[in-house]
Amino acid sequence: MKFLNILTSFILLLTVTVGFAQKKEVQIKVTKVTDHVYMLVGQGGNIAISVGNDGVFMIDDQFAHLTPKILNAIQSITDQPVEFLINTHWHGDHTGGNENMQKEGAVIVAHENVRKRMSMDQFNKKRKTTKKASPKEALPVITFSKDVSFFFNDESIFIFHVHEAHTDGDAMVYFTESNVLHTGDAYFQGKYPYIDLDSGGSAQGYIAAIKKALLVINDDTKIIPGHRNMSTKAELKAYLQMLESIEEKVMTEIKAGKTEAQVTKDTSITKKYDDLGYGDWFISGEVLRKTFYQSLQKL
Ligand SMILES: [Zn+2]
Repeated sequence: MKFLNILTSFILLLTVTVGFAQKKEVQIKVTKVTDHVYMLVGQGGNIAISVGNDGVFMIDDQFAHLTPKILNAIQSITDQPVEFLINTHWHGDHTGGNENMQKEGAVIVAHENVRKRMSMDQFNKKRKTTKKASPKEALPVITFSKDVSFFFNDESIFIFHVHEAHTDGDAMVYFTESNVLHTGDAYFQGKYPYIDLDSGGSAQGYIAAIKKALLVINDDTKIIPGHRNMSTKAELKAYLQMLESIEEKVMTEIKAGKTEAQVTKDTSITKKYDDLGYGDWFISGEVLRKTFYQSLQKL
């Protein structure tokens, strides 16, 4: 009995220690995507960098406390500095390192609504949280309204705005020679999307964003989503079909006069995709049905 107690305590201690260590110790995992494009995964949105003679071109920067680790990871690939940093949207897990990166000399570029939202306190109705306005040093210094191209590291990098998708300030970044697309959070590989209605996102805009991405890429494109694993055009096409089928079902229910509560509770709408595991991450089938209802009933 005593031995069992000791054993239990030991296992408990081990679990707590491992759990604690996992929480504290974020490692930045570097994946080589092409000759000069890399994906960096730590905590928060996936980072992409292009490395070459012109320097480092970076997409998103996770959280402020990770900046030293992210810079270490970049220095393990190149001794060149980060010249440009693109924010795919304003959320803190993609822009948290901005102030640090600006101090490092990076020029931050984003859609104009990213700067607008970061300049003011943002209230999230769903989570009842307020994110304070960011200091001036963290704000993008160059903004665009539709799209912009960079000519850097021997290729053109096409950055295009997708309207009212995950937020109202989303941008996708396409490396035209490397054939790599970073989608920002307008795509969560293998899982239901988070559509931030409080930040101007919408279900129909999210669907339109993916359609736009599919027009730009081809069968060989390597896709870096805002979160989760690298993906392909085939997988993104299947993702679009999933969203369109749910959109159609929710629209049918709205036209039949169903209420938000009824649609939110109706598991049959997302069952096929719930069964495939799309709902076992950040956004459940229930949350997705509610979001689609709120978004589509305005049409
Ligand atoms: Zn986001």
